Amino acid sequence: MKELLAIEGGTPVRETPLAYGRQWIGDDDIAAVAETLKSDYLTCGPKITELEDALCAYTGAGYAVAMNSGTAVLHAATHAAGIGEGDEVIVTPFTFMASANSALYVGATPVFADIDPDTWNIDPASVEAHVTDKTKAIVAVDYGGEAVDADALREICDRHHLVFIEDAAHAIGTTYKGRPTGSYADITTMSFHPVKTVTSGEGGALLTDNADYARDARLLRAHGMEHDPAQMRITVPEDDAGAWLCDQLFLGYNYRMPDLDAALLLSQMKKIDRFIARRKELVARYDAVFADMPEIIPQKRMPWSDAARHLYAVRLDLSKLSCTRKQFFDAMRAENIYCQVHYVLTYWFSHYQKRGYRKGLCPVAEAVYASVLSLPLFPKMTDADQEDVIRAVRKIISHYAGPSGG
Ligand SMILES: *Cc1c(COP(=O)(O)O)cnc(C)c1O
Repeated sequence: MKELLAIEGGTPVRETPLAYGRQWIGDDDIAAVAETLKSDYLTCGPKITELEDALCAYTGAGYAVAMNSGTAVLHAATHAAGIGEGDEVIVTPFTFMASANSALYVGATPVFADIDPDTWNIDPASVEAHVTDKTKAIVAVDYGGEAVDADALREICDRHHLVFIEDAAHAIGTTYKGRPTGSYADITTMSFHPVKTVTSGEGGALLTDNADYARDARLLRAHGMEHDPAQMRITVPEDDAGAWLCDQLFLGYNYRMPDLDAALLLSQMKKIDRFIARRKELVARYDAVFADMPEIIPQKRMPWSDAARHLYAVRLDLSKLSCTRKQFFDAMRAENIYCQVHYVLTYWFSHYQKRGYRKGLCPVAEAVYASVLSLPLFPKMTDADQEDVIRAVRKIISHYAGPSGG
């Protein structure tokens, strides 16, 4: 006999909700923040440099610029790349909206390339097809933590003189052909939001080997303000050239990360290998279980990518189920398994529709979106939590077994 689903009045597989992702804060993290709270600097202090050094050491990037969000970093990336009005930026629609907004922030036009049907990452062939004489950069996203086809994208960028920007918000710790994210794109952006692999509360970092990009990002982070007399262009009488003098070279923002947040992230970075190892264990368990469930199609892993997975997203094979994705999602929720859908395609949002983007633009991304679902994945999750997820999936699949209308 079929078990009664919680959504139909049955007993949920667990009593308390399980989120799809969340942070793991220990007493060591709390102590690190408390120590900084008692120090002289809550912001603009030594923890920022310490963090930037740690991020360079971890990723192999030449320069790291910490900021107060991954979104600010994406803005800094398009700004540093010199992108502006009239330019085009090729981007995946299967991402958080900030990836494409990075083009809008500098007055450029996002152009959406389609994704690969199996890896769900931007498809280099579609990128190539969208290059025009206005294209200035590609923003590629390592969806779920799986590395993009970086050599193929690099080749396209080199041939058309484009800047290769990698939004690695999901992928700190992922390696592409043995190289860590942050070490091979022209500019890599990271996010340290609490659901990401390591967190600073809110935060992000720009990684690059290019000294000019790093300098531009540092200026943008703090109002475009320059304190080095050799770099200032302001003209003042000699009597006014005191130690207080600064110049504003261009319109910048306040995108600074506070030292409190940097202290938290520095503490988290000490544990990143453990966090990633645990994520990999959980991913291996899911993979093994779903290998025997034809209704569940996991994201394809490519041999080039050793992924530090941020998301465990799967597609439902709706041809084998008599429910919709929404029914499946709601049934999981009733079982107290809180899934998420990553992502509503960026160009579907009304802000983009107002700008003339239309549904149908990226058919593969639309098909993947229609059946995708992220299952809980975070390092603090216990084996018992994961078994609850698996039990709920089995329960719902056996309830809705058979094709729709069948
Ligand atoms: C989280 C995320 C961002 C934005 O990062 P914030 O730190 O939340 O501003 C950008 N791109 C992707 C793909 C993300 O997942």
